[in-house]
Amino acid sequence: MLFVKISSSIKSSRLRLMASGRVVLPLVHSRYRWITLEQQHPFLLFKVGQTTPRYSTWDRVRGLIWLRPGAVGPMTWRKSYVRPHHCDAALFGKVAKTRTTWDALNGKGNIILMGLPGSGKTTTGRLLAEKLDKPVVDVDDDLLTPYWGMSVADKLGQIGDHRFLEEEGKALLTLDKQASIVSLSGSNPLHHDSMAKIDKAGVVIYLDAETETILSRQKSMKVDRIIGMGEGASLEQVIEARRHTYEMWHDLRVFIHASDTPSDVASKVMAAISRFHDDGGHVSTRDVTGHESRSTFLEAVLQGLAPDGGLFVRPSQRPKFSLNDLQTLLPLTIRERALRLLEAWIHPLDISPQELSHFLEMSYTRGLFDHPRMCPLVPLTRNVYTQELFHGPTASFKDWALQLMPRFYTRAANHLRPDQRFLVVAATSGDTGSATLDGFSRHAGNARVGAIVFYPTNNISEIQKQQTIAMEGPNVKVIGVDGDFDYCQQTVKRLFLDKAFHQDLGDCQLSVANSINWGRLLPQVLYHVTAYLDLVKDNHVTMGEPVDYCIPTGNFGNILSAYYAKEMGVPIRQLVCASNTNNILTEFLTAGSYSPSSYSLKSTISPSIDIIASSNLERLLYHVTQDPGVVHQFYKDVQTEGKAKVTETVLQKLKSLFRADFASEEDTLNTIRKVYDEAGYILDPHTAVGYHVATKQGTPQVPIVLSGTAHFAKFVDNVLPALTGAKTDLDPHKLTVEDLLTSASDLNGKPKMHSLLSSIASKPKRHSKTVPADYVQICHSIIEFARSI
Ligand SMILES: *Cc1c(COP(=O)(O)O)cnc(C)c1O
Repeated sequence: MLFVKISSSIKSSRLRLMASGRVVLPLVHSRYRWITLEQQHPFLLFKVGQTTPRYSTWDRVRGLIWLRPGAVGPMTWRKSYVRPHHCDAALFGKVAKTRTTWDALNGKGNIILMGLPGSGKTTTGRLLAEKLDKPVVDVDDDLLTPYWGMSVADKLGQIGDHRFLEEEGKALLTLDKQASIVSLSGSNPLHHDSMAKIDKAGVVIYLDAETETILSRQKSMKVDRIIGMGEGASLEQVIEARRHTYEMWHDLRVFIHASDTPSDVASKVMAAISRFHDDGGHVSTRDVTGHESRSTFLEAVLQGLAPDGGLFVRPSQRPKFSLNDLQTLLPLTIRERALRLLEAWIHPLDISPQELSHFLEMSYTRGLFDHPRMCPLVPLTRNVYTQELFHGPTASFKDWALQLMPRFYTRAANHLRPDQRFLVVAATSGDTGSATLDGFSRHAGNARVGAIVFYPTNNISEIQKQQTIAMEGPNVKVIGVDGDFDYCQQTVKRLFLDKAFHQDLGDCQLSVANSINWGRLLPQVLYHVTAYLDLVKDNHVTMGEPVDYCIPTGNFGNILSAYYAKEMGVPIRQLVCASNTNNILTEFLTAGSYSPSSYSLKSTISPSIDIIASSNLERLLYHVTQDPGVVHQFYKDVQTEGKAKVTETVLQKLKSLFRADFASEEDTLNTIRKVYDEAGYILDPHTAVGYHVATKQGTPQVPIVLSGTAHFAKFVDNVLPALTGAKTDLDPHKLTVEDLLTSASDLNGKPKMHSLLSSIASKPKRHSKTVPADYVQICHSIIEFARSI
């Protein structure tokens, strides 16, 4: 069964649903929004208003096509295009390959080259065949021409576009090769059945060339039409439509640029193939065994912490994007950019590109973010730009990771341990709790994965508390603990080590979703890359021009993701690490000494970065030393002596990558006031810490991107005193959630009030339960909840 969802903004009544080049259903859109069709043609129609089919029907769904305006789709689509929305689509999609299915081919898999006419499939196929000493099949020359006994052009002229696709598919079905290089024709991927067959027996590599390159190559080859133009669409329109078809099939994507020679393309494909066979995997930062035990992406996500207590990292083959590659991403939407970046990081046998695309569509969607650009870049002064990362459902940047990561997580759980239940446990002093609960309730609801969050009843702001305890969803639970944040965090650590408790939990395994989990870091790389692309797109810099990034830092997760973006090839000159008065990182990054024992935690008005032991520093140390032995020793020193120091060489390396500084409480308040007065922009206290450090450590000629990590309204109790100074004797810390949100809405400035945040005051307090700071009672409440997942 296939669902078709039609965007209500499509007005055309002349839409027709095509499959394999045939019209299978004329759609009359004026009356219906949902249409379901069974394998062949019988279909059910859902009436307008019933936007989502009943849940039970979804079991039978094999695919979903979403039509939306603005582009032309395959063949007869004029005002819409067809997009696969579910990876197991019977009609349009591929069945995800797994390591097992791939191993079953036992080295006999084909290398299948796919791409637009002019992307270089034939030439590349021949070069690869030589390099790899394998037979090559060019579908046009070696299969179709002999099969029909005439040239492809003649056949096309004889039978026309629509029948051609059917005939071509029939011919492709006869292809029965192993361990070969197969260069597909440009139109092969439009035929579902034959593609489904060929896809199973090989790895599909998409030679993704820019439209301009294709057009100029086609011009020089004197091609002025390709299949699908019969309905009067232009070449560009058909090309764009084709891309969507290709994206239903590829395992790997290779970017092709105008300047690439055939041997450049062949080398890129070779690199992609070698990555497919071995992407280096994930190892522990403390793994001194020489990468003997490597984990896949899904294993790393599911485990969270490595068994030896280290954190998972990619030791090698971290993806690189050239400036030309980045240029290719420029015109794309954030989701399209994100897909290309994630594909480069995640092995297709872990999560296929089609599934990634589906995840992105579910996670980074308009309804969940209250801004059409999702993370707009806003100029504040001549060289400071803030990237607003707080438009997600809980108003902090953590939503970016936590709307996507639960999808990785449930994919891993379903795939690796289908019989087990999982319980993600977190202690929160603020933003982590609500973002975790929201992400797991939305994206892991039916997957035997639950989330439980502990918060200190008296140590959390009223708004954050309301956000947390009003969270809905059958798989999430919140428990207030009459203790401080430290107690909550210690308890979580104790739970992980408590073997007896694990026995009581039975088949339910505890897990972590904070930024020590590799799955949390990767989504953050996406918006860091996007920030640079937006700077270029809005003409603030030219491609390649260096910029700085400044990031208010707590657990070192966000800034480490920016480090990965830099390493991938984004022209970031330096990363500026901003702390509040808990400034241990300032000392570490400027002097190389790290002494947690000589710092004591201070409560500040930017509570989400009140941290002394930043977990992700360990990953940075691994990358700059490239020596797990050093990391191991460093943390041993920290544990036994309370401090550790890096060598001079490592310090110089750190200093070439980072600058670091901090803001006092007064600096933060003054910054909020100053930026409001001068730019009419209201910074939240964390972003204000970043702004203060950005102006102190930046250079006027170099643009600097400031991570806007929270919406001001979330911390309005700390923002109001900064804006009003001593002019009021009202203590905002005594206001109710409703009053706080009202005063936030009343503030006259940018950004506008967060619409998703405004609605929380009226939500019922679903998790009003609190427990004393008593370990046994806490264990009980967890076990009770674990049974219900
Ligand atoms: C979590 C958080 C931070 C710190 O991010 P890290 O990745 O832990 O460094 C900064 N600002 C806000 C608002 C946060 O919620």
